[in-house]
Amino acid sequence: MFEKLEKRLILKGTIETVTPLHIGSGKSELDIEEADMPVIKDDQDKPYIPGSSLKGKARFEAERILRKEGYSVCNPPDVKSMCGSLVSDPSKFCLACRIFGTAGRVSVASKVKFRDAYPVGKVEQLIQRSGIAIDRQTGAVSSRALYSVEAVPAGVAFSFEVVAENLTDDELRILCAALRSVEHSAIGGASSRGFGKVKINIDTAVERSAKYYLGKENEKVYSGEDLKKWFAEKGCV
Ligand SMILES: [Zn+2]
Repeated sequence: MFEKLEKRLILKGTIETVTPLHIGSGKSELDIEEADMPVIKDDQDKPYIPGSSLKGKARFEAERILRKEGYSVCNPPDVKSMCGSLVSDPSKFCLACRIFGTAGRVSVASKVKFRDAYPVGKVEQLIQRSGIAIDRQTGAVSSRALYSVEAVPAGVAFSFEVVAENLTDDELRILCAALRSVEHSAIGGASSRGFGKVKINIDTAVERSAKYYLGKENEKVYSGEDLKKWFAEKGCV
């Protein structure tokens, strides 16, 4: 499928930990089999938030909002139950697939890309929280009872950047709502213990068209009051 670059929107800001944040290497919930749970780190040993974690969570929240609003939404992550497998006409894909992409017989790339989020400053120290593992089946304290969870403390800011291409206003509105909902939910593991609450601050929006890349048009940059007004016009809260 050929695709035109109509417009590219870049939302930039920070994502700040309000409570400790634990993003492990792939597991989203506490796994009682694992005694020690480090946070994911880059090759310089700095903790970061993978873009894929942010995107996955944003998609999950978008799907919940869409369902509540009466839209029909397919059921990822099983490819067989996604629009790419179930719907032959891409124009009839559910809004979640149109924004975040789909897989199956037809695979369509996501219109939104979440960059990996790196700490803005220095992270002084990671924290360790210990807990007692309970066997979910029996409710008994497991034999490997004590475990420790590593986490980024509250108050750490990470860079935040989402790049969205050719979003309709409707799709942008859902993306904004999903980001708000991520804030009021949680990211990463141990959320039942209060981990993973974040604040997403978007301070700049940049709009670029194909003409911009040909040097024929300026980019549009919104920040401060302009950004608030622009968001309001788009139906973003
Ligand atoms: Zn779908």
